[in-house]
Amino acid sequence: MVERFLEGNRKFIEEDFSKAPEHYAKLATGQSPTSLWIACSDSRVDPERIAGARMGDMFVHRNIGNIVPVGDKNLGTVLEYAVNHLKVNDIVVCGHSDCGAMKALDHESDEEYIPVWLKNAEDVKIKVDKAFGGPGECTDPAARKREIEFENIHLQLKNLRTYEAVRGAEAAGDIKLHGIYYDLATGALEIVEE
Ligand SMILES: [Zn+2]
Repeated sequence: MVERFLEGNRKFIEEDFSKAPEHYAKLATGQSPTSLWIACSDSRVDPERIAGARMGDMFVHRNIGNIVPVGDKNLGTVLEYAVNHLKVNDIVVCGHSDCGAMKALDHESDEEYIPVWLKNAEDVKIKVDKAFGGPGECTDPAARKREIEFENIHLQLKNLRTYEAVRGAEAAGDIKLHGIYYDLATGALEIVEE
C-alpha cells in the first residue's frame, strides 16, 4: 500500500516541488503560515487541498471531531506556538458534514478513550436535543445532524478563548477566529457565523 504513496511522492517532486524551487527553498529553512487550521482527522477533509492552500500557508492541528478541549496540553502547545511564535493572523475551526465523531455523540461506548474524548462535545448534543429532540424522536434527522456539526464549531470557538494565548492575541487585535463548515457532498466551504 505504501508504495502508492512513494510513487505519489515522485510525482509531487516532478510536478510541484521541482517547478517552484524558490518557494520550496524558502520553506526548507523556515515557515510563516498565516493561519492555524483546526480540523477533523477524517480522511476526506484534507485542509490544504479543500482550501487550495500552498505548502507553508497553514499550520494544521487535526483530531477526532475538530475539538478544542479546555486545558489540553497538546492543543495548548499548538496554540501557543502558532499564536506567540508563528504569529498567525487567523485561527479556523473547520467542521464537516457526515462527521463520525458527531454521529458518535448519539451512541454509548465502553472503549477506553473515545467516550472520554467526546465528553468535550457533550454540551452540543444536550443543546441540540433540547431544540430537535433526541435521535429517536427527531423528525428531521438530517437537520439535527447538521445542527450538531454547526453547534460543535460554535462550542470549539468558545473553548479556544479559554486559552490565554488566544484571548490575549484576540483582545490585541492580532488574530481573528473563524468557524468554517465543509460539505462533503458539494466540496464547498462555508463560513459559520458565531
Ligand atoms: Zn469528522
